[in-house]
Amino acid sequence: MMLPAAIELDLPITVLATDPSESAARVAHDVRLGRHDDADAVRALAATCEVLTFDHEHVPPAILEGIVAEGLAHVRPGPHALVHAQDKLVMRRRLTALGHPCPRWSEAADPAALATALGELGGRAVVKTPRGGYDGHGVRVVSDAAEVADWWGTGGPLLVEELVPFTRELSAQVARRPGGEAVAYPVVQSVQRDGVCFEVVAPAPDLEPGRARAIQELALAIAADLDVVGMLAVELFETADGTVLVNELAMRPHNTGHWSMDGAVTGQFEQHLRAVRDLPLGDVTPLAPWAVMVNLLGGTREDLAAGAAEAMALDPGITVHLYGKGVRPGRKVGHVTVIGADREDLLRRAHRAERTIIEGGIQDRNDGVDGSGSGTDGRA
Ligand code: ADP
Repeated sequence: MMLPAAIELDLPITVLATDPSESAARVAHDVRLGRHDDADAVRALAATCEVLTFDHEHVPPAILEGIVAEGLAHVRPGPHALVHAQDKLVMRRRLTALGHPCPRWSEAADPAALATALGELGGRAVVKTPRGGYDGHGVRVVSDAAEVADWWGTGGPLLVEELVPFTRELSAQVARRPGGEAVAYPVVQSVQRDGVCFEVVAPAPDLEPGRARAIQELALAIAADLDVVGMLAVELFETADGTVLVNELAMRPHNTGHWSMDGAVTGQFEQHLRAVRDLPLGDVTPLAPWAVMVNLLGGTREDLAAGAAEAMALDPGITVHLYGKGVRPGRKVGHVTVIGADREDLLRRAHRAERTIIEGGIQDRNDGVDGSGSGTDGRA
């Protein structure tokens, strides 16, 4: 999704892809085949580029450190920043040292340490593998150390966190240039389903302006403290008394920012390119009072293009994004966005479009097609 913005700005992009069937490889003009964890492949790419950036966080730090040390290319975000999005323990240690709000947490190097931590957290906790997790993989709510028996010996201690009784999840996105210029998008509300982001409302409803500003300031402070270049998403928990705690960081365009592609003057993919290329940042003002983004998570229907045609016929006001991925149950295969003034109507329309594309056969009716995400019921 960076490619359309790159075309508009005439920024030539070379994509490193493992397989020619990957989404980006299918649409990019210039593709190199190779793995993101193969030092030779990443270094060969870097040698042809001015700036190396990412659409996921799994490139090993040592490869990037070598590229920086040898001056092969600018790496943005740099490995010293990126490690906080790659390793949740490194992130917790650093944010805590900086005084940024986190859930109560500890490290457990073995089952006995985890049992002790569980005792201190009331018998139940969230256990995470520090590296390699995504979309809820590597995150378990446990009440017995035996429930993560398969995670020991996979490298280093596990992260143990209190089970935060959050009322909702928020996300604050900022973009930052190498010199420190930064902008903050409106804080959004995200709803997860089975650990996967499902629905985003921008801006977050019922968030008092002063608190929204404070959350934006927190995200800007984290970006500056960690010297992030590019897009940074700070995923947050909000609790009943209005406290916010940082859940995790992403240093790239993020699912909770997809609304901005259609709902803000400058979308997050263009903004990321501007930031990493050290170009002036774009205006982040929303184009409408509300934007609703709903993910298309794979179901039984294979032919998403047919579903999209149905949804577009039903509602010309929605924007459909299909990723060109094979459909597997629960896999993110696209998203829809709709912007306007009536939030409840936008939620209804976005969920109706999502069901239509994924399942088909949905008519223009109001009886329960608006999905589970518009209220508190659908929240994880
Ligand atoms: P991932 O790397 O898969 O995105 P996260 O750390 O964001 O993993 O966790 C996935 C989801 O699990 C979160 O969006 C949230 O719903 C839930 N979760 C994670 N940590 C906690 C916690 N400490 N307390 C309560 N829920 C949590």
